[in-house]
Amino acid sequence: MEKLTAKYCDTCSKMLSADKYHCPKCFSEDLEVRDLSGKGEVYSYTNIFIAPKQFADKAPYYIILVDLEEGQRVTARYNGEDVKIGEKVEFENIEDRALYFKPAVG
Ligand SMILES: [Zn+2]
Repeated sequence: MEKLTAKYCDTCSKMLSADKYHCPKCFSEDLEVRDLSGKGEVYSYTNIFIAPKQFADKAPYYIILVDLEEGQRVTARYNGEDVKIGEKVEFENIEDRALYFKPAVG
């Protein structure tokens, strides 16, 4: 099971995205990798009818913007039927470097 991680700058007490190698604010390279809860809320979504070739078998699908509990905003695929703005979602897995979220249980 893959985990959703982010990097944390101790100097600024700020969460950064996992692909950062230094803090954009203080330029510290002393970043700590932290696990995220994977829980968040749908901020926005787009329905993709015409997918790039490698995802054609999965179209149509939703691309969602998720505001995570930790304050990160990530782009992900939605593994569910009908997405709503403000819906609670949780991280499911990473496939082809894309994040997948599903409706949160409970
Ligand atoms: Zn910093």
